[in-house]
Amino acid sequence: MYAEVVVDIPSESAKGLFHYAIPAELECQVKVGSAVLVPFGTRELTGYVVGFTPTPDVAHVKDIRAIRGDAALSEQMMALAAWMNRYYTCSLGEAIAQMFPSSVRRGKARAKTESMVELVIPKEEAEILIASMERKAPRQAGALRIILEKGPIMLRRRLNNAPGSTPGAVRALIQKGILSETQKEVLRSPIKRTSKTGKSVPVLTPAQDKAVTTIIRSLDQESPKPFLLHGVTASGKTEVYMRAIEAVFAKGKSAIVLVPEISLTPQMTRGFSERFGQAVAVLHSRLSQGERYDEWRRAERGDAKIVVGARSAVFAPVQDLGLIVVDEEHENSYKQEESPRYHARDVACERARISKAVCVLGSATPSVESYYKALHGEYNLLELPHRVEMWGMPTVEVVDMREELAEGNRSMFSRSLSQAISDRLERGEQMILFLNRRGYSTFVLCRECGYSMRCPECDVALTYHAAGSNIRCHYCDYEEPVPSVCPNCGGRYIKYFGAGTQKIEGEVKRVFPRARTIRMDTDTTRRKGAHETIVSKFQKGEHDILIGTQMVAKGLDFPNVTLVGVVSADTCLNLPDYKAGERTFQLLTQVAGRAGRGDKGGHVIVQTYSPEHYAIELSQAHDYRGFYNEEISCRNEGQYPPFSRLILVVVSGKSLPAVERHSLCLVRAFRAQIKSAKQWKKTRILGPAPCALARVKGMHRWQILLKVDPEIGPNDHNKLIEEMQNACPLPSYDIMVQVDVDPESML
Ligand SMILES: [Zn+2]
Ligand SMILES: [Zn+2]
Repeated sequence: MYAEVVVDIPSESAKGLFHYAIPAELECQVKVGSAVLVPFGTRELTGYVVGFTPTPDVAHVKDIRAIRGDAALSEQMMALAAWMNRYYTCSLGEAIAQMFPSSVRRGKARAKTESMVELVIPKEEAEILIASMERKAPRQAGALRIILEKGPIMLRRRLNNAPGSTPGAVRALIQKGILSETQKEVLRSPIKRTSKTGKSVPVLTPAQDKAVTTIIRSLDQESPKPFLLHGVTASGKTEVYMRAIEAVFAKGKSAIVLVPEISLTPQMTRGFSERFGQAVAVLHSRLSQGERYDEWRRAERGDAKIVVGARSAVFAPVQDLGLIVVDEEHENSYKQEESPRYHARDVACERARISKAVCVLGSATPSVESYYKALHGEYNLLELPHRVEMWGMPTVEVVDMREELAEGNRSMFSRSLSQAISDRLERGEQMILFLNRRGYSTFVLCRECGYSMRCPECDVALTYHAAGSNIRCHYCDYEEPVPSVCPNCGGRYIKYFGAGTQKIEGEVKRVFPRARTIRMDTDTTRRKGAHETIVSKFQKGEHDILIGTQMVAKGLDFPNVTLVGVVSADTCLNLPDYKAGERTFQLLTQVAGRAGRGDKGGHVIVQTYSPEHYAIELSQAHDYRGFYNEEISCRNEGQYPPFSRLILVVVSGKSLPAVERHSLCLVRAFRAQIKSAKQWKKTRILGPAPCALARVKGMHRWQILLKVDPEIGPNDHNKLIEEMQNACPLPSYDIMVQVDVDPESML
């Protein structure tokens, strides 16, 4: 038999199956799902065994060189990889590679061991020996006495360094055959393995109870539908997850819990290990390679039955999967922004389907797509409409920045926000000032009337490209000159928007010189652990004002925070993205959710030039359903998801004419394809057009956006992409084409 192997390199020429012979010494180890080292051209690469064949397709078959790691992927994981290969149009090798820790892929996976020493002679004999050695070899006698007391097995390192012993003495005892040395594997552990703290478990609210019961009941179903758990902020979703996991655990099955940001994991993992002790493993990219490898193997061997982690934990090799939880399912950090461009929520649903497990998607602000599925019977909807502990929802005040300008206030803080800040400072309460990180200054907004320039066709914000004096739609390439006065009111305060966290901090310091501020953004959290340090300092009350980007919006719990200020809701509202409205609603709701988590109540101030926008009005009213209704009708009108499946094709390269030429070639190929069969009738092609980020690191970027009928299966859209690639071979190594199915961000 010969092994059929796929390799993990992006090159087109490496996409297929390759046949290798299996050397006799590896015969029992090589299985479907094994990672192997194979010769490939002049190199050696990591490949994955996907099958066996009696007839190789080349005359001279090379040998598999070695096996990497001792675990092979399960049949179910192989099926999941095959689905990713079709749905995301990535190579099978790329998909499988996601399922192994990088140390296995790179052949660097090594278990960490420590030397142990063991007393191998009977105790009585040892006591006689001690007496006889006391004068000639006092250190050896000392070492022997220690292991007699504390042994019979102990760490060699500990015995070496114990008072009365020396490394030399221990070595001598081993040489004499009095002690024997063995290697014991030690696990590198990313979390302090607390045993269960018998902390009292909270009493469930009626809504929580109902959700838990419904989920538990479905655990025994043959093919349960995914659940969408829609619970307002602080409604106790985590407790629902925990109870469901307890039930899964009791059946001897495993569970995976996905959380959106690495930085959130410590809080979550602490909670889970307090409840489930040693059974919890953690997987995320900030672990060291060794830690990750060990946690991965604990899950693979069934030692850890609950895996908590970020996006990649969706591939945790747990045995007998019973439940996958995707917390904050709407978060775009679940989308991987490099190939394979998978969305962990969708992979979770598919994995659960293959494993006949239950999938629970939780959010205070579900994505429009998920809520649509819940209303149309594809998911089951569960609701937690109230906060626990009788906390009220925070009050939200929307400040119209046009009026501030009209009354002569040109500062970035409205009078209302300034007043609120100084009140809190006086009372010694804490506050958060929030700014959207992606507010980069490319949209055009009138500060007098709030009018912003949008594409008449696509209804996305037009972006300013510094190269020309034009603003453009990066979906369809519509273009117009930058107006010098507002087309709506004739006002002159029309400007490119944007302020960073640093600028806000400067302004706070100028207006409130005695306020103690701390910043949390990509600059201040680059170092490992920096995020936790900031959180804990703020929690301890060492600062009055936390200034930050979306990081502060997520999951953090600050009981002393009574004010949240959103400095500019417009930066998010005017992202050149059809999801701008949804993102704004989600962000405002999540940010507001940080306020009023204690007994003092909470107040939120949102500053905006578009107070009448439904995303802002309805977040003020905490009205998700109302927001959904508005948003879904916009989506329907523009044929955006869930009414279409988007496929984004980005062409990049150093030469602008070459990028443009290749983009046009692709569009022609798509048009020809789409005309060829009836099923593509509903497909729309937008572009080619320069991306919103038209140039990154010297590379020009153009995009083509396909809106495909969502009823079309992944096999078919995969074929469309393949045909397109065949019709337009890459002209040179300088040009790159990326395909992103269900893109989360279109910048
Ligand atoms: Zn205007
Ligand atoms: Zn357009």
